[in-house]
Amino acid sequence: MAPTRRLTGFQPTGRLHLGNLLGALRPLIAAQSAAESIALIADLHAMTVDHHPSEVRASALEQATLLLAAGVDPARTPIVLQSQVREHTELHYLLECVTGYGEAARMIQFKEKSAGGGPVRLSLLTYPVLMSADILLYDANQVPVGDDQSQHLELTRTLATRFNTRYGATFTVPEGIRPDAAARVMDMADPTSKMSKTSGTGRIALLDPPEVVRRTIARAVTDEFAVVRRDPERQPGITNLIGILAACTGQEPADQSSYGALKRQVTDAVEALLAPIRARHAELADDPAYVRKVLAESAELVRPTAATTVARARRAIGLLD
Ligand code: ATP
Ligand code: MG
Repeated sequence: MAPTRRLTGFQPTGRLHLGNLLGALRPLIAAQSAAESIALIADLHAMTVDHHPSEVRASALEQATLLLAAGVDPARTPIVLQSQVREHTELHYLLECVTGYGEAARMIQFKEKSAGGGPVRLSLLTYPVLMSADILLYDANQVPVGDDQSQHLELTRTLATRFNTRYGATFTVPEGIRPDAAARVMDMADPTSKMSKTSGTGRIALLDPPEVVRRTIARAVTDEFAVVRRDPERQPGITNLIGILAACTGQEPADQSSYGALKRQVTDAVEALLAPIRARHAELADDPAYVRKVLAESAELVRPTAATTVARARRAIGLLD
């Protein structure tokens, strides 16, 4: 049986937050010894929407630093900066040649992000094809995906299967693995939307100072029921706080807990999780050359696999060696 190879991606569109940590980063770190994992910082994806060059660069470096600070071990899990492995863009093009325009235009995320009426970049339309390339390039057979990415993973499977059928066995068709529901962190100010780097206001960034974390949790939207229980429909805010507490500590709050007491418990639990990451980040941030070296070595490490996959795809689709 092929080894388990996982790919987890982060877009350098802003500051990593508690949702990224509980939903993606911690599972990645927990699986480090059992699976071959690759952490991808998808900087090419960050320019599918309006972006500032210096911010994308700074965010990519900060994310790499935070991944290390949180416990990603680069000796086991390469931290790959997408743009440093050129094969991503080459495979992207080859996959575009098996993607229908209508198929790309039907993607919900494309429809949502292009709905504003402003200029839409062509790269936003083809974003899911680049994501497919990210996955297929490394023969990843497991991809942790939340609801927001499950349609794109389905497209990846479709494109891989179509390419294999048309041009001969080339790609591993990946399976999506779902993070458990408790790992989906909602926005503190609007608990019906997921916490996000780019939308909403109730985000807890991993590098927020303790007093900011405390204030964000103290101001978290709750409700008038005054009962601490999981009820995602009627009490999304309280359900979110309970979920965060459970994800951080493995514990449920006491039934009779007041909202104030629950918020204090959540604050302590989040702080216990973030304090060591913050401290380690401060050390690593003093040595950006080390972080850049990790990125360069990671790219070196994965490039042979990427080159082999692209060579296979080039040959299959009709290009001369
Ligand atoms: P953006 O707003 O730019 O899409 P994001 O917050 O959704 O940012 P991504 O870089 O898209 O972050 O996702 C990185 C990883 O974190 C993915 O594996 C994604 O599924 C996971 N993730 C993102 N938001 C949450 C959340 N609120 N709860 C749990 N996991 C999340
Ligand atoms: Mg996202």
